[in-house]
Amino acid sequence: MAILDILKYPDPRLKEVAAEVSCFDDGLREFIRDLEETMRAGPGGVGIAAPQVGCMQRIVIVDVSSKPKIKQHGRLVLINPEIMQWDGMARGREGCMSVPDYTGNVIRAKNIKLRAQDEEGETHDYEMEGFEARAVQHEIDHLDGLLFLDRLVSRRNDLFERKVYK
Ligand SMILES: [Zn+2]
Repeated sequence: MAILDILKYPDPRLKEVAAEVSCFDDGLREFIRDLEETMRAGPGGVGIAAPQVGCMQRIVIVDVSSKPKIKQHGRLVLINPEIMQWDGMARGREGCMSVPDYTGNVIRAKNIKLRAQDEEGETHDYEMEGFEARAVQHEIDHLDGLLFLDRLVSRRNDLFERKVYK
């Protein structure tokens, strides 16, 4: 296993659109283990997308189980994820390992219906809400070359320098 280097804004590779995964082999599963280790090594790492480590494939990991008292599915490996339905809107604060110095307020769908494959290539459908739905939408954006910075309504009002608590 290995902790991979995280690309940081404004690295141009973060703007690339990732390709569909078609080969579900041991190499893919090994990469996913490294990607997950990288996510868990980061501060507050509740999600990561393959393009953040320079791998332009449609692979996302989300695990919001560290947040108490919310509806969630635990550890999720989402390959070729597709949001089938959006419902409601909510504003919330987001951070990103690729944008370490800032957080921002972003409007996302409250509820989503999602279809994705797992690391064996099996297709699953999910219904998600709240923080988990937000995390998944944030990570899927990475697959399409978008950062939360691209979704701020106003840089002046919705972008915040991250405070370091001592
Ligand atoms: Zn991110």
